[in-house]
Amino acid sequence: MDLKKSVAEFKALQKTMMAYNHASGLLYYDSVTGAPGGITDALGDTLGTLEAELHRLYVNDRTAALLDELWESRDALDAQTRRETEESKKDYDKIRKIPVEEMVAYSVLQNKSQAVWHEAKKTNDFALFLPYLEKMLETMKRFAGYYDGAKAPYDVWLNEFEEGFSTEYLDGFFAAVRGGLAPLLRRVLDKGDVIDDRFLFQRFPVEQQRRLSDYLMDLMTIDRAHCGLAETEHPFTINFSKYDVRITTHYYEDAVASSMYSVIHESGHALYELHVADELYGSCLSGGVSMGVHESQSRFWENIIGRSPEFVGCIFPKLQELFPQELKGVTAERFYRAVNKAAPSLIRTEADELTYPLHIMVRYEIEKKLFSGEVKPAELPEVWNAMYREYLGVTVPDDTHGVLQDSHWSGGQIGYFPSYAVGSAYSAQILRAMQKDLDVFGLAGRGELAPIVGWLTERIYRFGCMKKPVDLIRDCCGAAFDPRFYVDYLTEKYTKIYDL
Ligand code: ZN
Repeated sequence: MDLKKSVAEFKALQKTMMAYNHASGLLYYDSVTGAPGGITDALGDTLGTLEAELHRLYVNDRTAALLDELWESRDALDAQTRRETEESKKDYDKIRKIPVEEMVAYSVLQNKSQAVWHEAKKTNDFALFLPYLEKMLETMKRFAGYYDGAKAPYDVWLNEFEEGFSTEYLDGFFAAVRGGLAPLLRRVLDKGDVIDDRFLFQRFPVEQQRRLSDYLMDLMTIDRAHCGLAETEHPFTINFSKYDVRITTHYYEDAVASSMYSVIHESGHALYELHVADELYGSCLSGGVSMGVHESQSRFWENIIGRSPEFVGCIFPKLQELFPQELKGVTAERFYRAVNKAAPSLIRTEADELTYPLHIMVRYEIEKKLFSGEVKPAELPEVWNAMYREYLGVTVPDDTHGVLQDSHWSGGQIGYFPSYAVGSAYSAQILRAMQKDLDVFGLAGRGELAPIVGWLTERIYRFGCMKKPVDLIRDCCGAAFDPRFYVDYLTEKYTKIYDL
């Protein structure tokens, strides 16, 4: 056995897989950013062929033997190749555990289930979606058994979405967050409707909003030669390597803050990808390490920097230049308060920074009960509505604005939501660590964001998937993850805004 040759073969395989993913990703991106509607079937054909080809290339006896061989020789490998092997082997072992016909059936179910969910959401018809949700949950329970039969199925999935997570761990996390935030929210609400944000919902010409996006991306030091911006129904980031990242936004003429903060959020995801170390390019380690860490970056930029008084003060002259009529008589201070207004609401993606984690807690509690069997899928609307009343004090008018609002469950992403809340919590702790080295808000106030990007690159971005999330956060912050920082951050921020 020639280890050098095997390593070269392994690296070539990773590079080929990256190329396939790049190609199919771009086709998908094209299809949601303005491709003519009639191409759907032909595109489906092409994507299916590419996927089958990729599967054939990857899942075969040769790859299995190669990964086993490299794993056995792991002590002789350099750190990066060892980590590539570890990650690939983990992935591969999972693929091997699921019978091929079940994998194919799952893929069919997933496609169908997502399409039906779309329709069900549009027509407020939970009953239409119910049989698919039931099958999806059943499949996920079964797959969890394949992955790790010794663990409770929900714990298996939590760990899949963010390595190291379990219900035991998250119960503690959410208890700490809820314990800190529930009384804070009550004090905020007791103040009444003291923030007038109506000026944000006038008519803001889309052409000017586009210019604002360019301005914000420049300010955040985004290299536009390697990062595109397009318009889609829902904003997202798609990344192929550090040399090709695409973000999207959605412009609402009557809600200027929506796209503004989407662009900052997605640019946060993009910065992470754009600053992965050169040497990881072409390997399976070349992207952000986990959903939770990725959200910590997007939310750091969107909320901690983007919704700070210093940053708003810095960009306000530009806002006034772009929207002289709309912002006539508005001050930076008023704008800052308006984009931080806290109010319980129905829709997670539109929630403010303070009530957002409550939306996640509702989903987490429901997912636990779904997996344990305590709640049947058919009972979901009733359970959902009751929990929204309990946690947020709002009455859900229909399932479209309730249990059907998110796409995640239709695509089999049950166990995914907690990483949004944990990402926010990571970002608060990262801020505290950063403030030991940098005058973070002084820099934000002057629009000098490069040192902040540099700090994050040094401690987070460049590592790609080299470190596990838990190690990455601990090394970055100099201490293990602790939700206390998140509660403290929100308490401090909202005490000031609402003069509590
Ligand atoms: Zn995000």
